[in-house]
Amino acid sequence: MASEKTDAIMIRIVEFSESSCIATMFTRDFGKIGAMVKGARRPKSPFESAIDLLTVSRIVFIHKSSDSLDLLTEAKLQRRFRAATRSLPHLYAGYYIAELLDALTHTGDPHPDLFELTQDTIIQLDELQDPLSLIARFELNLLRMIGQKPSFENCTICGSSVPQQPRVAFGQLSGGVLCRQCRVGQSRVISISWGVLEAMKLFSQGNHALPSVDPMVLGELRGVLNNYMANLMGRRPRMQPMLSMLGRPSTVRDDALSLHRKADAMQIPRTDESTQENTDKDVLDEAEISQES
Ligand SMILES: [Zn+2]
Repeated sequence: MASEKTDAIMIRIVEFSESSCIATMFTRDFGKIGAMVKGARRPKSPFESAIDLLTVSRIVFIHKSSDSLDLLTEAKLQRRFRAATRSLPHLYAGYYIAELLDALTHTGDPHPDLFELTQDTIIQLDELQDPLSLIARFELNLLRMIGQKPSFENCTICGSSVPQQPRVAFGQLSGGVLCRQCRVGQSRVISISWGVLEAMKLFSQGNHALPSVDPMVLGELRGVLNNYMANLMGRRPRMQPMLSMLGRPSTVRDDALSLHRKADAMQIPRTDESTQENTDKDVLDEAEISQES
C-alpha cells in the first residue's frame, strides 16, 4: 500500500456514512480514482472545502491494491469552482463536464492532457466565458483523447473524402461523416449542415482561445453532440436536459445556490440503474433526427 501524491479534480461525491464520503476524482497522474474520505462530513473536517465538486486540490492518498477503494489522507485546496455561486449556466456546464469525465474515463488510466483540458475549462467557466462553446470544445477534445474522435473529412466506412455540400450525412454509430454510397442502409444517421461540421473541426483543435461561432450553428452543434454523447454512453447524460438553458445568461446568486443543491443530488448514482437504462434507450430511438436510406 503505497502513499501517492497528485493533483485532483473532484468529479463525484457520494455520502457514505454520517461522517464519511466516497470521492471520485480525476487526477493528473493516475486518471480516475475512487477514494474513501473519512471524517469529510464532520463540522471541522481537515478536508474542508477541498471536497467540493470541481475543486482542484493537491491530494495524498493510499493506493489500495485489487478492487477496494483508495483512502484519501490529505487534500489541500488549490482552486475553487467559483462559477458555482455566480451563474447557473456555468454551474451546469461544469457539472456536465464532471459527469462526462466520470462516465467516459477508466479508473487508473492516466490522461495528463485531459487533466489540463479540464482544469483550463474550469478556469474559463469561472471567467464566465461562453459555456456552450466551452463544453463543445471539451467534448470534442475529450473524444479525441479517449480515441473516439469523429471523422470530419473522410467517410467512416470507405475512407473516401466527403466533398463540401450544404448538408452532409453523419453516422452516430459509425462515428463521423458518410459518403452518398455508404449512408444507404446505415442506422442512426443524421443530416448536419456544413457549418456544424466546420465548427466541430474548429473546436476539436483544442486551442485555449475559443473560436467565434454563429449562435445558430452552436445550437445545431449542441443537438448533434447531445445525440453523439448519448449514443457513446448508451444513455442520456443526467445533466443533458440542463444544457438547453446554456445560451441564457443568469447570475442570480440565490437561484444558483438552490439549484446547485438540486443538481448536486443528480450527481449521486441512482439505485434503479436498470430501469433508467431502458427508458434512455427509448429516448434515443425517439431522438433520431432523420434516418436516411
Ligand atoms: Zn463511403
